[in-house]
Amino acid sequence: MPIQVDIIAQDRHVWSGEADMVVIPGSQGDMGVLPNHAPLLTTLKPGFLRVRKGGEELVFTVVGGVVEVRPDRVIVLADAAEHVEEIDVARAQAAKERAERILAEAPRDSEAYLAALAALRRANLRLEAVRRYRREKPISTPGQGQ
Ligand code: ATP
Repeated sequence: MPIQVDIIAQDRHVWSGEADMVVIPGSQGDMGVLPNHAPLLTTLKPGFLRVRKGGEELVFTVVGGVVEVRPDRVIVLADAAEHVEEIDVARAQAAKERAERILAEAPRDSEAYLAALAALRRANLRLEAVRRYRREKPISTPGQGQ
């Protein structure tokens, strides 16, 4: 019996489908969820949420939120979430540079400083996801030989 997975972010529906296993970046650490898992509610820490089905694995970044686990269902309510192929690298790089500029200038522990620290973590998470999990584009293109 597969698990029905729904990943919903504050501003959009990100993904729904079936899985054999879900690995959740829970606040207590990574948590593997198989069908018939005991019901629980946990908060998310920023990290990678992996959905496994057959031999395939889909990877999503999540930056916080909550997850409800039921025996046949996992419902992720994330502050923000993206499939690794959806991540806009230039945008994440720009967010990282913006955050670094603020961190260099704002007084430590000011609201702006703390917000920039959180923004830097989000940007670094997205960039790391692309580095680790994005599939390489094929080198050859049709019509160019090999
Ligand atoms: P930015 O400053 O670029 O908006 P952010 O970290 O402040 O980045 P969030 O508040 O975490 O952005 O997310 C707002 C929305 O934008 C969410 O839907 C999130 O999935 C999306 N998003 C943020 N950064 C990226 C990115 N680099 N690529 C794709 N989607 C992104």
